[in-house]
Amino acid sequence: MTKKTCGSCFKNKTSLRCSDCEDLSCKSCSIFVDEYEFEYMAQFSQDLLDKVFCPSCYNQKVSDQIQKYNEALVLAKNINVYDKDQGSETGIIKKIEKPIHVKDCEGEKEALMKLAFLAAMKGYDTIIDTHLVAEKVSRGGKYRTHLWRGSAVPVDPKIRK
Ligand SMILES: [Zn+2]
Ligand SMILES: [Zn+2]
Repeated sequence: MTKKTCGSCFKNKTSLRCSDCEDLSCKSCSIFVDEYEFEYMAQFSQDLLDKVFCPSCYNQKVSDQIQKYNEALVLAKNINVYDKDQGSETGIIKKIEKPIHVKDCEGEKEALMKLAFLAAMKGYDTIIDTHLVAEKVSRGGKYRTHLWRGSAVPVDPKIRK
């Protein structure tokens, strides 16, 4: 691959192509959105994962979504969780949203965090009717493991029936 001068700093040579506009930017100008750093992003969008962006595309199209992601993660960590059997406490809350679902999670904690994150992406700080189930799955014949799936309903506890 032939290297061209970076279109942003006009200094370094590069062959890194922006996933969006396809301009070439060098390693220090480009912004990488890797799957490892944004592990929950796949829950709502695959569009940005494992891609590289030039500074202008990042600022115009990506940075808002990254900011929203980071805010949702903070919200998700502090989310209020009510189980299915807490109906006496949550029965007065109006359900506006449809239930959200996650599956193929490695553990109960991960399933819960993913549910919380999905709710937070919609702007909610509370989930009710939370239900988590472990399923036995066999991988490669003999090896058995548990994968978790779950569902919950994102709610605003201030909105009553
Ligand atoms: Zn550059
Ligand atoms: Zn670009």
